Amino acid sequence: MTTRPALTRSEVRALLWHYRIAGEGQPIAEEVVTAWWRELRAHTAAQCHAALASINPQRVRHTTPAEVATLAASAPVDGAPSTARPPLPRTPSDVARERARFAKAGQRGIRAVYAAMGWQRHPDTDLAGTVVCPFCRAQTGQVCRPLVRTRDGKREQRDPITRMHPSRLAKARADKAAGTTTRGGANPPASQGVSA
Ligand SMILES: [Zn+2]
Repeated sequence: MTTRPALTRSEVRALLWHYRIAGEGQPIAEEVVTAWWRELRAHTAAQCHAALASINPQRVRHTTPAEVATLAASAPVDGAPSTARPPLPRTPSDVARERARFAKAGQRGIRAVYAAMGWQRHPDTDLAGTVVCPFCRAQTGQVCRPLVRTRDGKREQRDPITRMHPSRLAKARADKAAGTTTRGGANPPASQGVSA
């Protein structure tokens, strides 16, 4: 005879996310969702939400399913209190997207700092980075390794400012002048960046 909407697993997951009870930085384990769902399934999502919202924010993340169930039992069936924030369903892909965004912002930040401080990200570093180093074999987009002598006795020092071997820069310049691109133009250093 019950007409209340049944609590779903995804609602449980959303509530656990929202109140940071589980899943900080990683997907919530299915066993955790199951344990909470078993305890709370007699109540509606709104009741559970109201119960969680009524717990002190400082300790809500340490609450137990039993405590929430007790509180939910006395909450109205069809409505969270107006003070309750709506739960934010966060899926693992949401989290991944968010992290990618932060990582990008961080990269931009590092470049901005370099520019603001006048630190050397010399244009020659970018140019040399478009080719594999003929001396130390550093890959495109990477700065040269601090190699000064090869097995066959060739000697070269990295340029202290660009941190690239001169022969690499020369090769990149020659390639550029010839209008050729390495690897069919893949991995332009502007997007890949030269690790500092
Ligand atoms: Zn090199």
